[in-house]
Amino acid sequence: MNDCIFCKIIKQEIPCYKVYEDSDCLAFLDINPMCKGHTVVIPKKHYALITEMEEKDLSSLMNGVQKVAKALMDYGESVNIIQNNGPYAGQVINHVHIHVVPRNKDDGLHLGQWRTTKFENMDEIKEEIKKLF
Ligand code: 5GP
Ligand code: ZN
Repeated sequence: MNDCIFCKIIKQEIPCYKVYEDSDCLAFLDINPMCKGHTVVIPKKHYALITEMEEKDLSSLMNGVQKVAKALMDYGESVNIIQNNGPYAGQVINHVHIHVVPRNKDDGLHLGQWRTTKFENMDEIKEEIKKLF
């Protein structure tokens, strides 16, 4: 946890372009942005995965995300909210973070488009997942 880059940003050991902060979360510009205004929102308490978060911390993080999303809706015309968990989902920094990406008409990004697959056994899949709760 000590060599976590985002913890270092919270402790102001490394700089960031801060856009918003409250007692529980910090929002700053992504250093390698997908587009102008691409922001990440992080909890001040270190968690690696969103699935590990305590309810109150998750709740305050999402409040921060909504505030940032409202601001960025006014900065652009739409927003994508993206959260990567685990290496195969593209998580590189192991401190929970939520990307808020302002979107504009014809901006050339393709974040909302994914390949689709048909499954014949939807009922079986549903049962497999229901067991995991
Ligand atoms: P992930 O792929 O883990 O969801 O995204 C991590 C994000 O953190 C990347 O978009 C990357 O550009 C950003 N990032 C990594 N290191 C730093 C940093 O030191 N400062 C800032 N502002 N963003 C960073
Ligand atoms: Zn951390």
